[in-house]
Amino acid sequence: MRKTNRKLSPQTRIAQALRFMDPETGALVPPIQTSSTYARDENYDVRKPYWYRRDGNETTAHAEALIAELENAEQSLLFASGLSAAAAVIDPLPTGAHVVVPRAMYHGVLALFQSAQSRGRLVVSYYEAGDLDQMRAAMRADTVLVWAETPNNPDWAVTDIAAASEIAHAWGAKLVADCTGTPPCATKALDLGADISMHSATKYLNGHSDITAGVLSVRTPDVGWEEIALYRKLQGTVLTSFDAFLLIRGMRTLYLRVEKATENALRIAHHFENHRHLKQVLFPGLPSHPDHTLQTRQTGGMYGGMLSVITQGTAQDAIDVARYCTVFYPATSLGGVESLIEHRATVSGDGFPVDPNLLRLSIGIEDADDLIHDLEQALERVFNA
Ligand SMILES: *Cc1c(COP(=O)(O)O)cnc(C)c1O
Repeated sequence: MRKTNRKLSPQTRIAQALRFMDPETGALVPPIQTSSTYARDENYDVRKPYWYRRDGNETTAHAEALIAELENAEQSLLFASGLSAAAAVIDPLPTGAHVVVPRAMYHGVLALFQSAQSRGRLVVSYYEAGDLDQMRAAMRADTVLVWAETPNNPDWAVTDIAAASEIAHAWGAKLVADCTGTPPCATKALDLGADISMHSATKYLNGHSDITAGVLSVRTPDVGWEEIALYRKLQGTVLTSFDAFLLIRGMRTLYLRVEKATENALRIAHHFENHRHLKQVLFPGLPSHPDHTLQTRQTGGMYGGMLSVITQGTAQDAIDVARYCTVFYPATSLGGVESLIEHRATVSGDGFPVDPNLLRLSIGIEDADDLIHDLEQALERVFNA
């Protein structure tokens, strides 16, 4: 590796995959390690760091190092999905432990908590996402974990991570921050005081809608972190090397993609704010959003491309707007280069608190005018038919 004396910025280091260069061949792309097993050495000792693929592999470790760099983390662990990463935090908690979680959030994570609660595994208290008074009121002497999702699905309420970590720590609990909506080029949850930063790397980190992956990062690995690593090893939910390769490739353009998605989302949010066929545009990048100042501080202005709109009319009208879009794809997920539109109530199902007229938009990197025109024609077709 050629040396430089200058301290390189994360943009440079991520674009260069941590200045990777194969010392023997000069190749600039990290190889895909496909072996599931590793031979013992001449003394019949197990080689470090890997001896079997369920523990991890070199390609996945390289992707983990990129994320640790972005998060200012001591260690990052990649999983086969965001939900398997969340499960690795939730499942090892002691039986009967008390946790404090948002009432509405990514439905799969909520389902993990609700399932643990219904089986008597965990005692769960809820707070309105972003509402620190409710979070504080839910804390108990035996609370072990506070979960925050910020920005929070699907209305993008923002939780003050520094303040939430103070609340959690005052009660001897840990704060886990799921910041999937604003990847670690924008929000560095560990720097703000979270004990564990979580991301669905399926979304912005990979950015190309061609893998599922999840990641947990920590500043000070402790006993709890070792339990998480052991859980991944025993469950075999480590990210595969092929998917890690795609993730490394995707992350090289992370800054560019999030900057462009932010720029597009800001244009779209400003265009549709006060639109006659919409009741509301929910986007923390808008100065009218109640969490605008907080989110500007917590992202440095890199708000990302997640926004929701609440249409006039009926729930069917909202569904029809999604159906009539021709540039936006009517698909779930978020954080990819292509824009998606989704009727949230259809996807999250009964019992999940969401406005029946809410459409969630994941803004990609296309031309903003094409996206604005597409949503305009769909609204016209529904409301001026
Ligand atoms: C998608 C998502 C998850 C789950 O991640 P998968 O990779 O789909 O398993 C968790 N939290 C948030 C905020 C998400 O958007």
